[in-house]
Amino acid sequence: MMATAKGVGSEPGDNVTAQPLGLYVHVPFCATKCHFCAFFQAKPTRETIGTFIQGITAESRLWAATKPQPLETVFWGGGTPGILSADDMLRLHQSLEPILQGNRIREWTVEMAPATLTPAKLFALKRIGVTRISMGVQSFDQGVLDEMGRHHSPGQVKRAYDWIREAGFDNVNLDMIIAFPGQSTEDLEHDLDEVIRMSPDHVSAYCLTFEEDTPLYARLSDGVYKRDIEQEAALYEFAWQKLEDAGFHQYEISNFSKDGFRSLHNLNTWRMTEWIGMGPSASSQFRGIRRTHAHDQGTWLKDIATGSLPEREIVVLNNDSILSDCLIFGLRMTDGPDLPALIQRFGKSALSKWEPLFHHLTADGLAEYKPDNYLRLTLQGRLVADAIGVAVLEAEDT
Ligand code: SF4
Repeated sequence: MMATAKGVGSEPGDNVTAQPLGLYVHVPFCATKCHFCAFFQAKPTRETIGTFIQGITAESRLWAATKPQPLETVFWGGGTPGILSADDMLRLHQSLEPILQGNRIREWTVEMAPATLTPAKLFALKRIGVTRISMGVQSFDQGVLDEMGRHHSPGQVKRAYDWIREAGFDNVNLDMIIAFPGQSTEDLEHDLDEVIRMSPDHVSAYCLTFEEDTPLYARLSDGVYKRDIEQEAALYEFAWQKLEDAGFHQYEISNFSKDGFRSLHNLNTWRMTEWIGMGPSASSQFRGIRRTHAHDQGTWLKDIATGSLPEREIVVLNNDSILSDCLIFGLRMTDGPDLPALIQRFGKSALSKWEPLFHHLTADGLAEYKPDNYLRLTLQGRLVADAIGVAVLEAEDT
């Protein structure tokens, strides 16, 4: 077993124990693999679905034994949780009973794919208390969907969306991908017009990333695709403005919501509160420890069968490392990190190593202080948010 420790020599971050708690369940099944995907996922069979649910039952008991604080949010992600049958969804819910028992869940999201979504599944999800559906659309251009290896059509997206609304879900997210190689502003405008016409409550618009060992990465390496950084920046700006004009307020670099529909689960995660992750490759952040499970289902099942929470890959967090992540993810949020709250949580001197960086960012016009002492990125800063994240990490080690 491999154990990594960050911040060895200092106490685990003790400021995280009283934080809001989320539960993430990784459902590792997909019918086929998208051409940009580097996540662990496998084709489902009756046997692997059965053993997965047994593993979650066992893991749920292990986590319940730690007597965590009440859960605030639940998120079933993947993979494709929506590939499970309605009966398997009910079984998965039952398997979580030890950890869900007695909790009043404020937000419960399930990710669904347009091609495998059915009214019967939506009915089952409604019955168990799911409050929010997140559907992976990615594009309304059939050619782009085919190139990405997504096996659905724009028609299936619209039919699935109608079913979601008919089932009574009043909190719906659509996942889109922007800046596909060769995408023009007109292509993006067409995609966003379709989204706006459907009128979801939340939109996630992620930039396509080229992960190693994926077919899209191979096409980039072979020169079939060429990246145009200036065009990508122009597409982000266009998308951000168009969504804002349509009433979707950007509250994180890639996330936009109508008023009152920010994702609580994601907000808590970006604020570095606490979460329990279950299933293969899931990660947790709980009581000062970040742990990541084995990526394949067989090894995860063996680890769970030992009767204690897996310690395959653990990181002992200290206040500096949590604070650094609070700043990286906080700066990606439109509100920015709440500096007074961070000082209250981590102590007065905690931010001093990042102050020279804050000074540079504001002097270069990449960030600005708001009257209440929040720090937020300007438009120029948001366009280089990844590089700013690296600078925050480097400052942690000074
Ligand atoms: S549906 Fe999601 S997890 Fe499955 S292959 Fe596609 S991107 Fe990967």
